[in-house]
Amino acid sequence: KVRVRFAPSPTGGLHLGGVRTALFNYLFAKKHNGTFVLRVEDTDQTRFVEGAEEYIVSCLEWCGMSPDESPQKGGEFGPYRQSERKATYRQYADQLIADGYAYYAFDTPEELDAKRKEVPNFTYGLATRNGMRNSLTLSENEVAELLANNTPHVVRIKMPEDELVSFTDLIRGHVSFDTNLVDDKVLLKADGMPTYHLAVVADDKAMEISHIFRGEEWLPSAPIHILLWRYLGWEDVMPQWIHLPLILKPDGNGKLSKRDGDRLGFPVYAQNWTDPKTGDLTKGFKELGFMPEAFVNLLAMLGWNDGTDQELFSLAELIEKFSVERISKAGAKFDFEKAKWYNHEWIKNADALKLIPTVKAAFTEQGIAIKSEAYLLKVIDLVKDRCNLLGDFVAQSAYFFVAPAEYDLAAVKPKWTVEKATFFEAYAAWITDNTTALELEEKFKDLAATHQFKPGELMLPFRIMLVGGKFGPGVFDIAVALGAAETIQRIKNALV
Ligand code: GLU
Repeated sequence: KVRVRFAPSPTGGLHLGGVRTALFNYLFAKKHNGTFVLRVEDTDQTRFVEGAEEYIVSCLEWCGMSPDESPQKGGEFGPYRQSERKATYRQYADQLIADGYAYYAFDTPEELDAKRKEVPNFTYGLATRNGMRNSLTLSENEVAELLANNTPHVVRIKMPEDELVSFTDLIRGHVSFDTNLVDDKVLLKADGMPTYHLAVVADDKAMEISHIFRGEEWLPSAPIHILLWRYLGWEDVMPQWIHLPLILKPDGNGKLSKRDGDRLGFPVYAQNWTDPKTGDLTKGFKELGFMPEAFVNLLAMLGWNDGTDQELFSLAELIEKFSVERISKAGAKFDFEKAKWYNHEWIKNADALKLIPTVKAAFTEQGIAIKSEAYLLKVIDLVKDRCNLLGDFVAQSAYFFVAPAEYDLAAVKPKWTVEKATFFEAYAAWITDNTTALELEEKFKDLAATHQFKPGELMLPFRIMLVGGKFGPGVFDIAVALGAAETIQRIKNALV
């Protein structure tokens, strides 16, 4: 039975790498009729940020990947917030100590600081633990007394000497770590809260997780987790490991960070996020005008493909085609221009009806009232292949709702001449509501010939009259959408 989890820590906005981890979990679950769990890893009280959990839930919803089990939805493996599972972790720490796999460490923060100053790159582990105050160096009596006096202490894993921890990662194959190089990570903190390492293993076991999909940055933690699975006697039910490739900066030089987005002018969060402490806003793809379908599609392609050149996939199609074998080992460069291309394709191929609410809202925000949705629908159909972002609709189609107040005369050389005016008056007199774009065009050409013009000399002026500038879809399509009365009026306005 496939059970996977997305296990974010509620420490702020959701980076696109986080959403991709959620997506790959989701796709794998849905593909195998499994269960997609959202577990909130909030054991680190110092990093907890108010509102972050709600934000994560809303991002998942926007992307169309609602969890099957979550703090909000519940489920038979709950609670789904680690802070509410506190009682379960202590017993595992105790068990590990009893079995000799973990130990108490009484070093105070001041002592640790002093050590760090004394020894460059100090890590607590094999080479150093003998010089520290812990249950491996102190006598049994001393330890018992310290504990009886409630002396603050942590519990640390005792890394074995000269072992190779090996496992199979479904993307990377055989992976092994030398335990001499892994430090004795804290499992239980002085406040009794577990660290991520203990909680993640305890909960993956308790929630019967079958596959762990997470970012490559967690690979160095894998040996600790694997030893915990072993030491707790659970190795036979250990999940499969899948460490997803990093998402890299556009130039491929290192991991993409929030700061790269600020520096290069693109979002790295799924939705807008306002830091409750500083009030700082980090922009998201949603508010920038990305369709969720496009966002999900571009995330899927960061490190996965189906083996063909196909690039456009709906969520349903991704579920059908997704396979772990086709996830790449190499990091995936994030390219914002490519991201916009995905969005452009999705907008272009979208059902105009579906775009109405968003586009209408964008116009309303600009103070342009949309009176007829039927008209808006026609407009959307005409301009949607010119938009990269949902917000582009306003710039690309405002002239359908507001007649141009100014004309890009520089684009029409010379200005409308008397001869041209005569042509346009004659043309305006002929236009009716029942003419098709094709008929409008044919008449335009015939009449141009009669007035001894090449149609090319008149086409741009006509466009400027209707649009105000040198852009937009076919000018006769614009005229049909505007309707005869408005088209005639705009010709007249321009000729004044
Ligand atoms: N809480 C970890 C994070 O914030 C989860 C890592 C894992 O999936 O094991 O990414």
